[in-house]
Amino acid sequence: MNLDRYSRQTILDEIGLIGQSKLKKSRVLCIGIGGLGSPTSLYLAAAGVGTIGIMDPDQVDETNLQRQIIYKTKDVGTEKVIAAKKNLNDLNPEIKIIEYFDTIHAENAEEILSQFDLVVDGTDQFETKFLINDAAYKVNIPVIYGAINGFQGEVALFDGNNGACYRCFHPTLPKATIKNCAESGIIGSIAGVIGSLQATLCIQYIVSHQEQNHPLKPIIGELNMIDLLGKWTFNQFKVTKQSQCKTCSLQGSEIKLESNTIVCKVVPTIDIIKIQEFMKDDSKNTIIIDVREQNEWEEWHLEQAIHWPLDQFEKGIFPQKLNQTKNVILYCKSGTRSKKAVQILNRAGIKNALSAIPFLR
Ligand SMILES: [Zn+2]
Repeated sequence: MNLDRYSRQTILDEIGLIGQSKLKKSRVLCIGIGGLGSPTSLYLAAAGVGTIGIMDPDQVDETNLQRQIIYKTKDVGTEKVIAAKKNLNDLNPEIKIIEYFDTIHAENAEEILSQFDLVVDGTDQFETKFLINDAAYKVNIPVIYGAINGFQGEVALFDGNNGACYRCFHPTLPKATIKNCAESGIIGSIAGVIGSLQATLCIQYIVSHQEQNHPLKPIIGELNMIDLLGKWTFNQFKVTKQSQCKTCSLQGSEIKLESNTIVCKVVPTIDIIKIQEFMKDDSKNTIIIDVREQNEWEEWHLEQAIHWPLDQFEKGIFPQKLNQTKNVILYCKSGTRSKKAVQILNRAGIKNALSAIPFLR
């Protein structure tokens, strides 16, 4: 470990070489490398957190650059996790970055979170925040929660195994949706404030972990609310553990993880699309075809899809609607059968077909 690199923080009595070595040994997962995840992961990398997981299913878009300061102009069009990994390692080559080009969902949450000591929530959907909270409780790690909305932001450490969890704060899925930055607008530096506070909480948690009365110990459930419109206000509110909490009143093993939004990973272009949104846009004129077997269809299928198993394609029998449709999305379980169906359609002169794997986000 290059000690000069960290000398401005190891000189602090509260950190010292012991704290630095704890940072080096720690593993932090950042879910969402956007407005919040950018400053958080940069500060964690700079501070010498030894292993940082970064998870994001998106690619860098030009509109991201105004606040997602981990990305450079040349990264536009690149997968966020690829660009972020490079930029984090450019900043600090001594640390390990593990990238997940994916969303967090019910099927992967527990396995991925179990490999980390704490998780930073940099997402902008309530459903995802609930999922992260529940999975973190199951694998017994804390969540560094953050949210931004216009000129307001919130940050807290939740840990259902030792105090309040996010569901103690929001017992049910709020009716309102969190507006994302595209919908509500944001000054980049405000995302920077909240993301930096999340990084600070991470560092405090790691350095003070398993020590009583450490001066950096963060308070579980202490919600910090910041409003930077007009006269700035900074408020704190203690979220208390709720005995009726749907998550932390149960045993971890009793909790069933849930994902809500169905998204689709298109292969091989690896664009992620929200099928519902795709369908809403009539101009796209899309048909979605489930090419799996009857029993799989009966078990579960996308609401908007029609069922047309692969063997029909193989016999050269196609759905009639196909001729009047602009886009065709075919899906199966793993993308193998749908890819085959796409090839068959392509050979039949239908070139506007995509193969996809639906999954829950
Ligand atoms: Zn709770």
